Amino acid sequence: MRMTRSLAINEVLNNHQLCEVFLCAPQGGMRKSNRTNTLTLISDKTKLYDDRILGEIYHYTGMGQTGDQKMSGQNLTLAESDRNNVEVHFFEVMKSREYTYRGQVELAGGPYQEQQKDRDDRKRLVWIFPLRLKDSKAKFTKISPLINDQQELKDEFEEIKQVENLPIPHTEKARLIKARIGQGKFKKLLLERNCKCELCGVTDSRILIASHIKPWSESTNEERLDINNGLVLCPNHDALFDKHLISFDEQGKICISKTLSETVRIFMNVNDNLHISFTKKQLNYMRDHFKKIKLIEEK
Ligand SMILES: [Zn+2]
Repeated sequence: MRMTRSLAINEVLNNHQLCEVFLCAPQGGMRKSNRTNTLTLISDKTKLYDDRILGEIYHYTGMGQTGDQKMSGQNLTLAESDRNNVEVHFFEVMKSREYTYRGQVELAGGPYQEQQKDRDDRKRLVWIFPLRLKDSKAKFTKISPLINDQQELKDEFEEIKQVENLPIPHTEKARLIKARIGQGKFKKLLLERNCKCELCGVTDSRILIASHIKPWSESTNEERLDINNGLVLCPNHDALFDKHLISFDEQGKICISKTLSETVRIFMNVNDNLHISFTKKQLNYMRDHFKKIKLIEEK
């Protein structure tokens, strides 16, 4: 038995209708139906962030939300779809509960593994499936900004990395890299999220500085690209943060270096009542920063 009816490219279904067409389960990102011999793939843009489109190829993250993904079940069905005669159909969700049909897909290459973070923020191995639409007229969504942005960010950071090879002093490199990050995509993405100094509320984007909480030089490539490793501060507060003269504890409460005089505190606009709010992911980076200021203080 085939699908209960054929679908038009870009047709929008709700979950119930989708299940009726493919006779599949009502949940999951990869839904296998033995009755219609289909595998339905759902790329939920409202949830998934690690899928990406490079050229015409969609790099689809396999199934399994925690721990290393296994090559079994639906992942295996997809991996073998070039020889098992299972039809693979592709949907994108841009808005909650709306499934847009993009048509049938096929493997554009063998699946490969990469490291991503799971729901609990733990590093794990996932399977990525390069997919191509079978119908040449069909198109994946005009690449959601997120995927585009990620690529732009990567390209930019590849450029920045070249600064590391320049025959100039380390401090000069660090200054150049910081300046370059401060003009680019990383800052733009951070400002889209929150366009003000996290501490004092200054909102002029011309002077706001986007920094890595965990410094560029100590970050892995993945951490360098991670927006959660970013913090927007005004120049004064950025300078203090950068030099570990202020940091933030688990609750976001400020910790000010004892070496900072009362006068400097007043002129630099910091006091013990300040705090910032950050996400759980930012907190992971902040912990190390906080430890460092404590270490310096204890010397
Ligand atoms: Zn500030």
